[in-house]
Amino acid sequence: MNIPNFNTTIDMKNAEKGMCQLMRELYPICRSITGNGLRKTLNLIKDQIPIEIHEVPTGTQVFDWTIPKEWNIHDAYIKDSTGERVIDFKKSNLHVVSYSKPIKAKMSLKELQKNLFTLPNYPDWIPYRTSYYKEDWGFCLTHKQFLNLQDDEYEVCIDASLEEGYLTYGEYLLEGDTTDEVLISCHVCHPSLCNDNLSGIALVTFLAKHLRQLSRRYSYRFLFMPGTIGSITWLCLNESQVSRIKHGLVVSCVGDRGPFTYKKSRRGDAEIDQAVMHVLKHTAKAYEIIDFFPYGYDERQFCSPAFNLPVGCLMRTPHGRFPEYHTSADNLDFVRPECLVDSFVKYVSTVDVLEQNKTYLNQNPKCEPQLGKRGLYRAIGGQPDERMTELALLWVLNLSDGTHTLLDIAERANLEFGVISRAAEALLAHGLLQERSEAPA
Ligand SMILES: [Zn+2]
Repeated sequence: MNIPNFNTTIDMKNAEKGMCQLMRELYPICRSITGNGLRKTLNLIKDQIPIEIHEVPTGTQVFDWTIPKEWNIHDAYIKDSTGERVIDFKKSNLHVVSYSKPIKAKMSLKELQKNLFTLPNYPDWIPYRTSYYKEDWGFCLTHKQFLNLQDDEYEVCIDASLEEGYLTYGEYLLEGDTTDEVLISCHVCHPSLCNDNLSGIALVTFLAKHLRQLSRRYSYRFLFMPGTIGSITWLCLNESQVSRIKHGLVVSCVGDRGPFTYKKSRRGDAEIDQAVMHVLKHTAKAYEIIDFFPYGYDERQFCSPAFNLPVGCLMRTPHGRFPEYHTSADNLDFVRPECLVDSFVKYVSTVDVLEQNKTYLNQNPKCEPQLGKRGLYRAIGGQPDERMTELALLWVLNLSDGTHTLLDIAERANLEFGVISRAAEALLAHGLLQERSEAPA
């Protein structure tokens, strides 16, 4: 695995252990866009980081949407005429279509079939289905289970409630030196599904734990919300302060073996886009950059035209591009600990770039300053390539005209950001640079 040559040290073993442990704890819980499974999930995250848990009542209008009724489920099954549970929610929470209305009825196989969902191409997997905004009910089962169903009279029971209640989400603001914010968001509404859901929750939780220990220029806002309705709700309730968000990432599908995929913000040329692409270029073996499109996760809402926030999405294999997606095969074995921690490192490296990406002014712009007499080569010694060190110093001096950030310079010089930022630090220490914002007008 590539470890970034940036300036943060990461306790990777601990992060890996902690993220995997959290995923194992969260895996059995039946989550949805509202309800007690979601609350239990947020409370387990709260054991790790001090998130605030918000409750927004059913019926609240959030832009063009309305907070739905709260859904809770206790049990569900299909029993054959001998009383045997042929489908049992207690064996897998994927067996029930999420947000199914309660039902208790007897019916023939023919009648029942209309409400059964399977994956004929993957006969051992249970599909994941939802019916949030249309009151309906259904069961998901493996195609093998389906083929075993005899012509019989079945007892169908979904012991669930759909009532006035709340939509719950978690939020954690980690304050920095400035009120400018970096938004890190993930969805928390999927039941026992790992890559699409739990990998993101685990990564965001441990990113927050990591950043808590460091001094920070930016404030970091971590959001744990049900997909779509959660981000719409958050944006509606926080509209007046979204201008604080200077950079953002939506975290999802970060634990599979696939190469990285970065989906750019709607703007396409935001600093976050540049930072992620730089990190991937220098630390990932293979990766793909894709343009924004109005489908996917909550970047759709953050990047809606009235907000157009600089929010991208860094994932491994995107949703829908791996067959296990939204099936019972997206389980604890599908997420690889080494891949999850590799994703964690990419996020930490990206944040590290954002933290240090400043603009400077060369204080000796009339020809090159004499570096040797200032001992500058020794000052950043210990680098394997002396020529690279000298080049980095010269690039920083040449492009520090107040219009290029360090990341611009790293890109132009085709050098890793860490090399450029260390060169800038040395020049700063020798009075050859001044931060632009500190320069007299
Ligand atoms: Zn999903």
